[in-house]
Amino acid sequence: MAKKVESKFLIIEATASEFLNAGFGAGPVTDCGVIAGGVFDGFSMISVAGGERMVCDYCNDEIKAEDACYYVSVLNQVMCRKCFEQWHASAKYYPEDARIEQKNYEYTLKKLEAAGSQFIVPACSSQQV
Ligand SMILES: [Zn+2]
Repeated sequence: MAKKVESKFLIIEATASEFLNAGFGAGPVTDCGVIAGGVFDGFSMISVAGGERMVCDYCNDEIKAEDACYYVSVLNQVMCRKCFEQWHASAKYYPEDARIEQKNYEYTLKKLEAAGSQFIVPACSSQQV
């Protein structure tokens, strides 16, 4: 179940499998140790059959299907919980990034919803900046 994280940033929390269903994620590691697939909208994207996986854009650790991932719109990155909490604790908000942040957020939200993720907007979201 995807939801917006309470923050001055636009953050989407969803499980790795929800992100994978929406077409995000990295491909399997090939024989030569390289992750197969190209870059797609800032994400490592699979174009090969078999074993999609979600990888943290920060620490490159694999995120298990049932674990939460955090899509940080302003960076256009998906992070594991640990990296997200670290980043969020010290992240600075730059108003000049708001336009691209909003664009990334809406795009990713649309992809998640198109893949069947239900999205929960907190009741107080309209008061957040
Ligand atoms: Zn991480």
